[in-house]
Amino acid sequence: MSRLIVVSNRVPLPDRNGQPPAGGLAVAVHSALKANGGIWMGWTGETVEEEPGPPTVREDGAISYVLTDLTQRDVDEYYNGFANRVLWPIFHMRLDLAEYARREMAGYFRVNRLFADRLVPMLQPDDVIWVHDYHLIPLADELRKRGVRNRIGYFLHIPWPPADILFAMPIYDTILRALSAYDLIGFQTDYDLENFIGCLQRDGAGDTLRAADGRQVTIGNNTGAGARIAAYGREFAAAAFPIGIDTAGFERLSAKVATREPVQAMRQSLGGRALIIGVDRLDYSKGIQQRIDAYERFLENNPADRGRVTMLQVAPKSRSEVPEYKAMQDAVATQCGQVNGRHGTIDWVPIRYVNRSLTRGLLAGLYREARVGLVTPLRDGMNLVAKEFVAAQDPADPGVLVLSRFAGAARELAGGAVFCNPYDTEQTASAIGQALSMPLEERQRRWERMIARLRDYDVAHWCRDYLGALRA
Ligand code: UDP
Repeated sequence: MSRLIVVSNRVPLPDRNGQPPAGGLAVAVHSALKANGGIWMGWTGETVEEEPGPPTVREDGAISYVLTDLTQRDVDEYYNGFANRVLWPIFHMRLDLAEYARREMAGYFRVNRLFADRLVPMLQPDDVIWVHDYHLIPLADELRKRGVRNRIGYFLHIPWPPADILFAMPIYDTILRALSAYDLIGFQTDYDLENFIGCLQRDGAGDTLRAADGRQVTIGNNTGAGARIAAYGREFAAAAFPIGIDTAGFERLSAKVATREPVQAMRQSLGGRALIIGVDRLDYSKGIQQRIDAYERFLENNPADRGRVTMLQVAPKSRSEVPEYKAMQDAVATQCGQVNGRHGTIDWVPIRYVNRSLTRGLLAGLYREARVGLVTPLRDGMNLVAKEFVAAQDPADPGVLVLSRFAGAARELAGGAVFCNPYDTEQTASAIGQALSMPLEERQRRWERMIARLRDYDVAHWCRDYLGALRA
């Protein structure tokens, strides 16, 4: 079979023994690359003063890692600028936070051209190319302009917004049009796909859409929602491929670490209190502040539960160079302090707040310790934490997932999770109460439904499905 070329903003490099870094996506894509050989290309994460030199190539068996440096200006404009201050907020429906600057937009396209220039000389005619995420939307278009006729697929890890939101973005039409250069566009959920098709229709490409009228079509082996589309003079397919986790691996990991020292120490420190856990990058899309409000409301509404529960919020810093993230950093810390000051007692702290990243292993053990997983994003492409929380539970005594209906994961975890509307403080507070008092039998019933789906459609399955459809 032909080689696979993966392109993403950052590249998860293997360690010295050739082992890919932990984390579902990296492992799944590594094994797909290993199967037929190929290239994984992206940014080194380093910035340089001058124009970057030729890319660094690291060979590892059948896989070549091709890494390019960027200048500080590139990073400011492409990454911190257009990707994270325009595309990220708009795709997460936060028009109020989008900071559009023409210079940054130009930088975004410039870096995509740089990636295309770097990639073209390495390509063979039958290579299949798979581009990831919002940093690289124009890449296929740039490759086509350079004469590349290979099969090119795209997967968007974040949500796709409705037309009224997208169209508020200057140059939305350039972005939309650029996507037609791909052969297959993958979305996390059928809602994202519907939004995308709605955008094409509203942009006037609608009369050429086929099979997008609500009928299910089969794209490759994927029998979910999909559409074959002719728009802007090109034909392509678009379909939903909800990303999974390494379910079996996570189940094993959580059982193993449950008996280890840090998790035991955590259990001891709880002194029999029920643990409620939240784990998110510190990002406004995650609804962390709304969640803390809901937890406080729960404490106010249920005085008998004060002193009997503990919330642990893990929120590692992210994108600190973007002003909204820096502001949020201070806001969350203040909010946790206020809740603890108002409700804490001399021997009970309502919220423990960890503003650093924890390892996967420790998280797996903590999820298993928790009675409730609070995953309440205002908007999220998928949310892997929700899936990891489920996979980490002890089948004999599973915890309950309280899940925002605005997480992509909600599509697959219906029937198992307790849903909440994160904008509704009162309702989220009662969802916490419902989760804490749920009888064992119901917890098991709900958990069985969720774990069955996660075992069936894990990240390896997702990767096979997507690549099967792209190669078909
Ligand atoms: N994660 C981690 N350590 C932390 C916090 C998060 O390893 O301290 C991992 C988490 O286990 C999950 C990923 O980061 O695999 C977050 O993915 P998700 O889809 O939930 O959100 P994203 O950060 O991609 O928006």
